[in-house]
Amino acid sequence: MNRCGVLVVGAGPAGATLALQLARAAVPVTLVEARDGFARQFRGDALMPSGLEALARMGLWDLVERLPRRPLDGWSVRVEGRELFWVAEPLGSLQPCTLVRQQDLLEAVLAEGRRLPTLQWRSGVAVTGLLREGERVVGVRLADGEELPAALVVVADGRDSPLRQQAGLTLHRPAAPIDVLWFRLPGHPQLERRNDFLTLVGGGAIASAFGGADGHLQIGWVVAPGEPQPQLTAPAWCERFAALAPPWLAEHCQRSAAALQGPLRLRVQVGLAPRWWRPGLLLLGDAAHPMSPVRAQGINMALRDSLVAAEALIPLWCAPDGAGAAGPPLVWERLDRTLAAIQARREPEIRRMQALQAAEARQGRLIAHQAQLRRLLAAAAPLLGPLAKASWLRRQKPLREGLAGSLPASPFDVPVRERTDRQA
Ligand SMILES: Cc1cc2nc3c(=O)[nH]c(=O)nc-3n(C[C@H](O)[C@H](O)[C@H](O)COP(=O)(O)OP(=O)(O)OC[C@H]3O[C@@H](n4cnc5c(N)ncnc54)[C@H](O)[C@@H]3O)c2cc1C
Repeated sequence: MNRCGVLVVGAGPAGATLALQLARAAVPVTLVEARDGFARQFRGDALMPSGLEALARMGLWDLVERLPRRPLDGWSVRVEGRELFWVAEPLGSLQPCTLVRQQDLLEAVLAEGRRLPTLQWRSGVAVTGLLREGERVVGVRLADGEELPAALVVVADGRDSPLRQQAGLTLHRPAAPIDVLWFRLPGHPQLERRNDFLTLVGGGAIASAFGGADGHLQIGWVVAPGEPQPQLTAPAWCERFAALAPPWLAEHCQRSAAALQGPLRLRVQVGLAPRWWRPGLLLLGDAAHPMSPVRAQGINMALRDSLVAAEALIPLWCAPDGAGAAGPPLVWERLDRTLAAIQARREPEIRRMQALQAAEARQGRLIAHQAQLRRLLAAAAPLLGPLAKASWLRRQKPLREGLAGSLPASPFDVPVRERTDRQA
């Protein structure tokens, strides 16, 4: 690695796909990941049409098609155990919401990248500090003391991002954090017949359940701000799910209580960094804007950040007067203007998605905490269900497809030089 390359911190969806796109365009890139391997017991695997579009435009559609995946069949909203409405995928989008194990996706992206001489992969070692020259970030320090210089450090180290803090970039937190408890249960034949994303509201609780890409049933349980986590045994948790669930799921929960995995407690602090960059440093993905889990936006927004960043950065290295290891030194001012432009391009979509997520969450809380309203909705489901469905559907298009015009017009509108030789 030399000062002319890009150093990406974190091989999540944002960092891994950015590193691959840069390496494919012959930009020298080092990807540093703190952990060894991508296996996690709990990891999101819902790709919305917005994330699928980003992957396609990165030229990764073939890769996605080679992975085990399953489309979601529909969305079912249930109140007090009764279905209020059901909507079939793909809700008018070109692609249905699709479940792909994040581990599979990241491993495949990395395998592609590691075939390229322009990508260096460092795993099992954390970045612990930033190297600076005056105001400019000029590289990173690893936990083992090694220093890696870089023209640009892309910080994609996730929602807690210690490097964001080190860079002096703050996070605006519009609301108190909530906690989500994640559980897993073995799969059920019903999920093979029809795999719906279930939203379950009842008795002051909000939960969700769906069959994940690996065939397991994933359950999320929202713990409101200030509410203590219920300390329940696995059978007691299963009883609580059963009270909200359709009959097949209720029976499955009760029968499989011994196999319940979890809970993993995930603190969800939604936020947006007012500024995503410093000279020589760019935040991407959750590091710039930790998303709410509502309607699965995190991976999808991270992928769209990565696409926009790659399309903006690649021309700097490939332009005749750009940096590139073989070219004249990168003009720092131009790099920093590009970092600001990446934020300007991405921020409107992130703000809009976070506002839509907040509206969905408010509505869920309203129903969850108003017993009379819940009883009315459940009792009059055949009458009120179609109205609730129409109102729900109106919000879904942007949450599924992203904000119109937020990605560059065409994947081919930037000059990308494909080279396989390492630039000396
Ligand atoms: C249980 C769960 C379910 C979810 N479900 C969904 C879903 O269905 N759909 C969806 O869109 N989103 C979902 N999400 C959110 C989604 O996973 C995140 O929004 C998304 O992964 C963010 O991508 P990222 O690349 O920005 O960061 P991350 O995926 O968080 O990746 C950051 C990476 O950086 C590494 N790292 C951290 N610090 C360092 C360091 N100092 N040095 C080197 N490496 C470092 C981490 O190990 C990690 O691999 C879910 C999240 C969880 C926890």
